[in-house]
Amino acid sequence: MTTTTVQTQAPRTSWIPIIWIGALHVGAAFALLPSNFSWSAVAICLFLHWLTGGIGICLTYHRLLTHRSFTLRPRWLEYPLTIIGTMASEGGPIGWVADHRRHHAFSDDEHDTHTPLQGFFWAHMGWWMVVDDTSRHTAAYYKRWAPDLYKDPVLRWIDNYHILFPIALMGLLYAAGGWSWLVWGGFLRTILVLHTTWLVNSASHIWGYRTHATRDQSTNLWWVAALTYGEGWHNNHHAFQTSARHGLDWWELDPTYWVIKGFSYVGITGNIKLAKVQRKRAAADAEPALNGGTVQSIVDDPNQFVPADDPHQFASVES
Ligand SMILES: [Zn+2]
Ligand SMILES: [Zn+2]
Repeated sequence: MTTTTVQTQAPRTSWIPIIWIGALHVGAAFALLPSNFSWSAVAICLFLHWLTGGIGICLTYHRLLTHRSFTLRPRWLEYPLTIIGTMASEGGPIGWVADHRRHHAFSDDEHDTHTPLQGFFWAHMGWWMVVDDTSRHTAAYYKRWAPDLYKDPVLRWIDNYHILFPIALMGLLYAAGGWSWLVWGGFLRTILVLHTTWLVNSASHIWGYRTHATRDQSTNLWWVAALTYGEGWHNNHHAFQTSARHGLDWWELDPTYWVIKGFSYVGITGNIKLAKVQRKRAAADAEPALNGGTVQSIVDDPNQFVPADDPHQFASVES
């Protein structure tokens, strides 16, 4: 007779991001010292929050690289914009895109990287503090979730050396404005970008209203949208993942889309994909809307995360 023993491994701590992001939090705390305050440092902090968070992460990492919701002319503009994205200290572009496409494929089920079903803290920042063998940034993982980016040698180079760019930016800030600019524009700005991004994963899967009966628990949440340049209209985004515009109702302000649309007038952006929203009450078997929201459509297309050129993309039109 043989017996088998099931071994449950304790989660392994992911020390490198904990030390890096922990150090950034300690650095950000120095903003509390009045001696580090200056109005120019506050202005730099706000500007770089928009540049690295709004343009780098929301517009480039998310709407361009992950979902290919528009194209750039010339295409090489993608590279400097991606470098701006690395300066948010959210990792390299290929790993970020792969993790996010996986989130869309398995939203709020057991394979999701950061579902709030395991608690708010887990969805917000706990998920990157432990080693997850199913989402290690290996070549196989990249080839599965981001093959389009992985075959681009420039993006692979940026992904490999992404850590150099936020460090270079901090060096530049110190050289240009001293300790005050480094604390406000470097440390504090990075922490604010990280937490506002994480709120999309945590708060925008918990609170807010649901316009579309997606398979997950994503919500539209105005205050997260305000902090993330439109990314908080997250239920709309889960419903229409390839849409460049996330704010679909008139009150759902979406500054990232304004930039994409604005650049189209001077020919820098094109092929802007938009959602076709069915203004109908959902069928009786639809998941009920949360917090009084009105269900307008049922959307359930797990293939939407597939990058551009896929002929099966859902509800996409070119403007
Ligand atoms: Zn989500
Ligand atoms: Zn997305």
